[in-house]
Amino acid sequence: MEDLRYREKLLCSRELHPEDSIIEVGEGIGCVRIGGRYTAGVPAVIAGPCSVESESQIIEIAEAVKAAGAAMLRGGAYKPRTSPYDFQGLEAEGLRMLLKAKAETGLPVVSEIVDAGNLDLFADVDVLQVGARNMQNYALLKALGRTDKPVLIKRGNAATYQEFLTAAEYVLSEGNPNVMLCERGIRTFETYTRNTLDISAIPVLKGIGHLPVLADPSHAGGRRELVSSLALAAAAAGADGLMIEVHNKPEEALSDGRQSVTPAEFAKLMSRLRRLKMDIEE
Ligand code: PEP
Ligand code: MN
Repeated sequence: MEDLRYREKLLCSRELHPEDSIIEVGEGIGCVRIGGRYTAGVPAVIAGPCSVESESQIIEIAEAVKAAGAAMLRGGAYKPRTSPYDFQGLEAEGLRMLLKAKAETGLPVVSEIVDAGNLDLFADVDVLQVGARNMQNYALLKALGRTDKPVLIKRGNAATYQEFLTAAEYVLSEGNPNVMLCERGIRTFETYTRNTLDISAIPVLKGIGHLPVLADPSHAGGRRELVSSLALAAAAAGADGLMIEVHNKPEEALSDGRQSVTPAEFAKLMSRLRRLKMDIEE
């Protein structure tokens, strides 16, 4: 793999797998395919609140993002917060609410897992998210590699492309080929934005690797007013998917309200994305 300093050829590399990987999420009519021709120019959008806060909150948001065209619903139940005094998530109860929203809307669901000991609780969660803080939690990555569930790995905030890809390699090497990468901003000297969205990561990771690459403009910018611009930039750069935080009452959100867009703002972004797709095709 070009520029990656490993003697062994990596399973995540184009050398070993020239075709784009296509990850199937969910079953039957609600099945979403991510990667290759399925998402070329039309990113699959994962939308929802940072945290599941109540049954009515997650169901209301799920219905709104579905109506706007989201492909999947997100909602954190186990929240690895920077401070132990911040809201830590509703845990098993939060997952139950998220699964209720899945049953009501038919949207596949994505939620962060922080401990392999919780895998049983995630049996009906469609995509297991590994957060930026856990990108190098190799015990967790190996355990997820022993499942056959789609895994979405977020880039650590100081991880190089090599470190990011070799984190994915931990899952692949245990036998699970269903891995997606998500660029969510890295730490730079700039403090105005929460992180700096590294747009280069999208073409670089798709060039040297074959796994789908998504982008998360919400955690990158950290400000709701930046989400649309960053999402459109990532889509134009070839992102296979986008993860967008949406909240029905952002000012009351228990986590990440400042970067959460309202359902109306999300619907507007979805229509701008559809128009961008036409531009790419011309
Ligand atoms: C999240 O998706 O809510 C999250 C905690 O993201 P990250 O791991 O990228 O900080
Ligand atoms: Mn968040």
